[in-house]
Amino acid sequence: AKILWNDQIVSEEEVKIGYEDRGYQFGDGIYEVIKIYNGDVFTATEHIDRLYASADKIQLVIPYTKDVLHKMLHELIETNEVQNGHIYLQVTRGISPRQHNFPTTAVDSVLTAYIKETSRPLAQLENGVKACFVEDIRWLRCDIKSLNLLGNVLAKQEAISKDCYEAIQHRGEVITEGSSSNIYGIKDGVLYTHPVSNLILNGITRKVILDCCEEIGLPVVEEAFTKAQALEMDEIIMSSTNAEVMPIVSVDEKPIGNGIRGEWTQKIQQAFELKIPSSIGV
Ligand code: PMP
Repeated sequence: AKILWNDQIVSEEEVKIGYEDRGYQFGDGIYEVIKIYNGDVFTATEHIDRLYASADKIQLVIPYTKDVLHKMLHELIETNEVQNGHIYLQVTRGISPRQHNFPTTAVDSVLTAYIKETSRPLAQLENGVKACFVEDIRWLRCDIKSLNLLGNVLAKQEAISKDCYEAIQHRGEVITEGSSSNIYGIKDGVLYTHPVSNLILNGITRKVILDCCEEIGLPVVEEAFTKAQALEMDEIIMSSTNAEVMPIVSVDEKPIGNGIRGEWTQKIQQAFELKIPSSIGV
């Protein structure tokens, strides 16, 4: 496979990662996951904007303009001739002798991006998935898409060990977000989701879903709900770049609504589907 390494597309054997890279030693960096449908990137501008916003929040300078990065990503897709999958892109603060504070001399950041070919989780999108509650033990800057994912990793592992697809994290009684997704509840024809704040990642799919809700006439209330309220919801959804609009049909083995994908969920999925780039000529 061909990898984007800083501003060059190279074979993966050519990529050299330093053992003193601050991403490797401190998780000192940021990342994005961008979906490719039919050879085209989906919501790339939004992902690139969020990448630069995350960089700003940790005082990391990405030495390319957004336009140049956007073009490099297109080149990466074309070189790899990928139709469906996603780009994983990360930028670290670079290589420097290990000390917690930022390097005191100028150090170049290190960018790597590569493509994974994947297919859409169509069976789960139809049948829904199981989730469980996990205490949110992460830091208080979950708005930054940082490489420090240990809290998320432990939450997801707990979910997998319970045969669940996702962990629904909560601070005290209040639901924040999934380990790698945003969470929504629908009750009596209203969709509820945690407001954008430092406690959640402002998902790009979340924004697309809120647009879909507007289109299908589903009112949205950006207010957090509790674990107890979650169990009383008619429908629960999780969303992410790869999981799209994913129905959650049980939480801690308790069925949500009828225990199958709900009608509003299906309508949101249909509206979402219309936004996906289709291949040329189809
Ligand atoms: N929250 C967290 C913690 C995530 O890791 C993700 C996935 N990147 C999301 C939410 C969903 O974000 P997006 O829709 O932009 O993929």
